[in-house]
Amino acid sequence: MVQSMCNTDTRDVQATVKQIKALEKEGCEIIRVAVLDMTAAKKLGQIKRQIQIPLVADIHFDYQLALEAVRQGVDKIRINPGNIGSLDRIKKVADACKEKKIPIRIGVNSGSIESRILKKYKNKVTPKSMVESALYHVKLLEKFDFRDIVISLKAPDVNRTVSAYQLLSEKVNYPLHLGITEAGTKWSGTIKSAIGIGTLLYQGIGDTIRVSLTDSPIEEVKAGWEILKDLDLRKRGRILISCPTCGRTQIDLIPLAKKIEKATENIEKPITIAVMGCAVNGPGEAREADIGVAGGKKLGIIFRKGKVIKTVKEKDILLALMAEIKKL
Ligand code: SF4
Repeated sequence: MVQSMCNTDTRDVQATVKQIKALEKEGCEIIRVAVLDMTAAKKLGQIKRQIQIPLVADIHFDYQLALEAVRQGVDKIRINPGNIGSLDRIKKVADACKEKKIPIRIGVNSGSIESRILKKYKNKVTPKSMVESALYHVKLLEKFDFRDIVISLKAPDVNRTVSAYQLLSEKVNYPLHLGITEAGTKWSGTIKSAIGIGTLLYQGIGDTIRVSLTDSPIEEVKAGWEILKDLDLRKRGRILISCPTCGRTQIDLIPLAKKIEKATENIEKPITIAVMGCAVNGPGEAREADIGVAGGKKLGIIFRKGKVIKTVKEKDILLALMAEIKKL
């Protein structure tokens, strides 16, 4: 499932709900909000009542905020029990979540490994130290017979993240939430996340994903879906096939492909659209596409499942293709 996190102030219910609704439209399936103080915690119920997707409360350290979030009816808490304090406080949170059947996500980040564990690994954040940290938090919950647990193990680089999740998946059966933390800006962060999350999903590891980007959460959701679609794990919206262009291209294909990408971004039905540079290879190579266009000499050949259905002037390609897409 595709998850994201709001970057609004949770105390601002209107702005947060507005962002979540936009994310829902984009296909976000689970949303997390930061709960910084009691004012924010007390707004969670209002937010929850106005949205359709499960709401996760992200809490650091303060068990009172976790208890309030549970009272407000959130669907999941993200908190590391080892950071809550006394066993008594951990028990209170575990019991409250158990009573309401709310899972707890343990989120280990490479930057927040306990110093005791780090010391053991010569102050190096390694996949092993990350896993040890996660298991420490898991055991604290299991102590109170709490087992509705989700775990994430994020580092800002692909290698450690992938190795850590692989190692953890051999040790526990709990669901795993995947992501590369602080992955970067839209372009580099999407590539990094696609490699890391993609590698794990390809191996059958992972249950929910978040692409963390220094950008709008909308972009995170879009990227998340592209990863799932490209691995053929889920279907949603169009898949665009387009050729890299070469000396055979006789139309202005690159801007055309971008226009088609933009014009079709809100299609929810899973269809494959091909944008190919030439008629020699285009329809054949993209024969599996539901609909496509191949460039000719200043013209476009529209084809469906590899079969040519019409030829139009270059300037009319976008309109003609969109008309055919509508028919689908
Ligand atoms: Fe070149 Fe045609 Fe292949 Fe595009 S589809 S890369 S134009 S040969």
